[in-house]
Amino acid sequence: MSSPPEPVTDLAHYRAALHAWLDAHHEELALRSEPPGTLDDRIAQMQHAKRVLFEAGWMQLGWPERVGGRGGSPMLRTELGAALAARDLADPGLFSLVEVLAPTLIDFAPPALAAEVVPRLLSGAELWCQGFSEPDAGSDLASLRCRAAPRGASTWVINGQKVWTSLAQYSDRCVLLTRTGPPESRHRGITAFFVDMDTPGISVRPIEMINGEQEFCEVFFDDVVVPADRILGEVDRGWAVAMSILPYERSSCFWQRVAYLYRRLQRLVDAAPDGGRTAEVVGEAYVQLFALRARSRATQHRLADTGTLGAETSIDKVLVATADQTLYDAVRRVLPEGIALDDGAAAEAWRREYLYSRAATIYGGTLEVQRNIIARRLLELGSDE
Ligand SMILES: Cc1cc2nc3c(=O)[nH]c(=O)nc-3n(C[C@H](O)[C@H](O)[C@H](O)COP(=O)(O)OP(=O)(O)OC[C@H]3O[C@@H](n4cnc5c(N)ncnc54)[C@H](O)[C@@H]3O)c2cc1C
Repeated sequence: MSSPPEPVTDLAHYRAALHAWLDAHHEELALRSEPPGTLDDRIAQMQHAKRVLFEAGWMQLGWPERVGGRGGSPMLRTELGAALAARDLADPGLFSLVEVLAPTLIDFAPPALAAEVVPRLLSGAELWCQGFSEPDAGSDLASLRCRAAPRGASTWVINGQKVWTSLAQYSDRCVLLTRTGPPESRHRGITAFFVDMDTPGISVRPIEMINGEQEFCEVFFDDVVVPADRILGEVDRGWAVAMSILPYERSSCFWQRVAYLYRRLQRLVDAAPDGGRTAEVVGEAYVQLFALRARSRATQHRLADTGTLGAETSIDKVLVATADQTLYDAVRRVLPEGIALDDGAAAEAWRREYLYSRAATIYGGTLEVQRNIIARRLLELGSDE
């Protein structure tokens, strides 16, 4: 099998080589089930796509060599996700999970552990999940209660519950936030662990979403014993781990999502009847997507140049959620039968995505909370005190 260019010197060169390769290997990556497919189908497709891309050397680009990567700018890997999304070859939401969790292991795990597991994630051999939210700790994450207590010098025991854990039922590992300080210690008493999901005492209960899929789960921890060398970062310093994930959740992932939303907008334009309010409704969605893309592009470059992002990514989150919902609202308005009444496969896909888009203002931090951050931290319009 052919390999990507080496060295990869610039983005334009990379994009051209990538698209030429994708043209030549389209058959290997093409959807293996009829759209809309089930979540099982989409997970299988995503893992298959990662395997093919890993064997050809593409998945390793943009990741450090110490974890089996081939180096280069992190923008190479987001471009890869966006290219797949634009060609309908992998679900961008699922694909970008790698983007969220691999950097955490690279930055906070013991180096030997990161070198062992990150290639398994990149190659599709494993899937991981993010165990942060709890029944009483979502927006207010610092109030989480799932407890980890030391047992002897080399193990910890975890008891408690997580909720809304995406893909936990498919996952081999979990990046888990636990309470290790006293309950009132808030963000100063949290520790992050990297937990094997087949450890005795873990039970996973999928939750059905409004679109009928079981994408997220409740996860219960009942005397789960975890080795001390699975701590990410330092004891009681897990807040730094949680915060380090945000830049990736609000930058690279969004670039892939934007590519996908553009693709869906094109599909809408192809399917929409001429006349009526079509141009106005579709135009509104296009303008929002365009603004989002411009913003997200600047964010990708800032992350690649500086390695850090801050509260300003709350703006990206507001834009992506708003553009996402505006696009699917446009689908509902322009293709009313497609969303409400039609039972064909294309309509089923639109319906499922329309319903999922309602969650865009919740996952990764709700819009109300993002607007608070924008008001207080960027515009200096008062404080919580
Ligand atoms: C599709 C999906 C996938 C998810 N996947 C994961 C995952 O993999 N791992 C994980 O850990 N979590 C996941 N989550 C959970 C997500 O992070 C939380 O739902 C989110 O942070 C909100 O928390 P909550 O649901 O507890 O709502 P709450 O925090 O209870 O908020 C309820 C309402 O109150 C508002 N509110 C809360 N505080 C304030 C405030 N200070 N000011 C103004 N309004 C406020 C909120 O905006 C919201 O409207 C997922 C959620 C969804 C929808």
